[in-house]
Amino acid sequence: MARDPRYDILFEPMAIGPVTAKNRFYQVPHCTGLGWLRPRMLADLRATKAEGGWGVVCTEYCSIHPSSDDLPYPSASLWDESDIKAHTLMTDKVHEHGALAGAELWVGGARTANLHTREVSMDVTSMPNMSGDPYQTRAMDKQDIRDVRRWHRNAALRAKQAGFDIVYVYATHGYMLSHFLSAETNTRTDEYGGCLENRVRLVRELIEETKDAVGDTCGVALRFSAEQGGGGDGTPVTGEHRDMIEMLAEHPDLWDLNIKDYSLEMGVSRFVQEASLEPYMNFVKSVTTKPVVTVGRFTSPDTMASQIKRGIVDFIGAARPSIADPFLPKKVEEGRPEDIRECIGCNMCYTGDGKSVPIRCTQNPTMSEEWRKGWHPEIIAEKTSDSRVLVIGAGPAGLEAARALGQRGYDVMLAEAGRDLGGRVTRESRLPGLSEWTRVRDYRETQIAKLDNVEIFRESHLGVQDVLDVAADHVVVATGATWRRDGVGRFNTRPMAVQASDAAIFTPDDIMAGKPPTGRVVLFDDDGYYMGSVIAEHLAQQGCEVVFVTPDDCVSSWSGYTAEQTRAQRGLIELGVEIITAHGVSAYDGNAATLVCSYTGREQSIAAASLVLVTLRAPNDTLYQSLKSAVEERTEGAPQTVNRIGDCDAPAVIAAAVYAGHRYARELDEEIDTDNPLKYDRVFYEDGS
Ligand code: ADP
Ligand code: SF4
Repeated sequence: MARDPRYDILFEPMAIGPVTAKNRFYQVPHCTGLGWLRPRMLADLRATKAEGGWGVVCTEYCSIHPSSDDLPYPSASLWDESDIKAHTLMTDKVHEHGALAGAELWVGGARTANLHTREVSMDVTSMPNMSGDPYQTRAMDKQDIRDVRRWHRNAALRAKQAGFDIVYVYATHGYMLSHFLSAETNTRTDEYGGCLENRVRLVRELIEETKDAVGDTCGVALRFSAEQGGGGDGTPVTGEHRDMIEMLAEHPDLWDLNIKDYSLEMGVSRFVQEASLEPYMNFVKSVTTKPVVTVGRFTSPDTMASQIKRGIVDFIGAARPSIADPFLPKKVEEGRPEDIRECIGCNMCYTGDGKSVPIRCTQNPTMSEEWRKGWHPEIIAEKTSDSRVLVIGAGPAGLEAARALGQRGYDVMLAEAGRDLGGRVTRESRLPGLSEWTRVRDYRETQIAKLDNVEIFRESHLGVQDVLDVAADHVVVATGATWRRDGVGRFNTRPMAVQASDAAIFTPDDIMAGKPPTGRVVLFDDDGYYMGSVIAEHLAQQGCEVVFVTPDDCVSSWSGYTAEQTRAQRGLIELGVEIITAHGVSAYDGNAATLVCSYTGREQSIAAASLVLVTLRAPNDTLYQSLKSAVEERTEGAPQTVNRIGDCDAPAVIAAAVYAGHRYARELDEEIDTDNPLKYDRVFYEDGS
């Protein structure tokens, strides 16, 4: 199909200095948890985006020298010949697909303690390490500044040698250059401190030197904050940053702009919507003639086209939308925007960086698996038998299994007990801020509707005999999990003491089913991710008096990995929720809950008319266990194989359920070497050392 002419503007080429991007789809630098540690996985991940139509595909932050080392977080690097070779794996493939490759040169400063290389970290002054490590930086003297300029220039030359088309100067996100720019952190009295001109000096020098070194063949981009910071959501304080942008207006070949507040810039959909940076960016194009790119979790081609038509930006920057759907540009170009796998704004992708593991995505189970498993986001091997497959349960796991099996060509029956598809994503989407969870369901439902070979049976709660009656060749059980009501979890390894049989105990399942607790509610969050704080927010909004109890030292501690922890805690404080940290709940008598201090074990009793337990989930696996016995006993109608996937197997995040469903579909009828299930990427040197 031809693309909608409304989107033509997205496919207009645009020059970035001496190079030209074929369209306006720009994958800005984003971390992957791969970096220099896993070069082949990284190359294929980036190449897949180029194949999917992105006009520009960038690296993650790319260290210029061992004095900028971020391990355990794996950055990219351009330190030596072997790095050039590693990046060439990427740039060659990106070029094959007609895209430009960008390298974001990075100097860590006070954000890095250089724990791997043991080089002394340097910054504008002697500063504390900003990541909390017990180190300080050395205040850079003139020789240090000369060294950094030389290292930056040499890294730019290596970037050019590695085939990059765009080379960045990276002056934001709390790294070294941002400290030179800021009047708060820059207290120098030499020509690099004091007045605005002086504080901007190093950034200006690096732009000029990068242009001088590689500007004949490479565009030079400046990544910069469009605001000084300090404004509330949606009310920017541009401050000196507007002056700086005006000063440097024509210096770089491209402005890649973002803002200070990371939890807004890449905020979760719970708190931040599409195109939220527009109020921060709308002045930039009036002060520079150079192209401008920014992000905004853009998944709607209408919003994208509108951003360009209204002169907010020239390029549609994307990290997450390109992760959830590497083929987003192609789908717009081919006139099938309904096929876009829209990002849900959960930030599971960002946890890869914080956990130092390959990036994963809730919507796109093939992310990071392009090289090591050979998984392509759009292509899948055809079926190798005429088997009929019964999928039981249409949550994220079952839906993805049915979709991908259908794509392979299998005859699939998808049975769902309820009327609605989606399982937990449908249930959870009714809670505050989680409405975009439905995209996990909607993408799959749309794709399944296009497949004649997948049949959906709603309101079909299957028991063992029902399954045997179907006599499918393969059965996969995706019946999910149920929140436990007995308090067992990390804190209580055995059921909690409950002295009253009619005690008002609730679980998230009850609340999602519309059974609200009453009176003063004690919510015990032993889970630590989003569910506890979302339920507390929901109950407080309903007018309940809520006491939030957690054994951790803050609300929703794991949400730090998804950049939502501070907003989650702030939100509860603002709603008047009482927060008790470092305590677990060990007993409940219907009127009072017993709290136990995580550090001392001391007990206290607090009034609680109702208790909400956000602890552990129990897999709904009885059907699976019975079917397994039927297979073993060769009962009539028993399938050849029965498997369990997703929460029914091991309750976890939505991304794990989608991955499990996808994996099942990929592996059905295939020979899998369970001793060597995936290719193992790691750095090696020419001489084999
Ligand atoms: P996951 O995250 O693993 O996909 P969910 O809990 O989201 O799990 O979804 C499980 C789905 O399975 C729910 O929609 C539920 O209604 C459905 N289900 C549970 N038991 C049965 C059953 N016996 N027959 C059909 N559907 C079932
Ligand atoms: Fe979007 Fe979540 Fe995927 Fe990240 S993990 S790209 S936020 S859907």
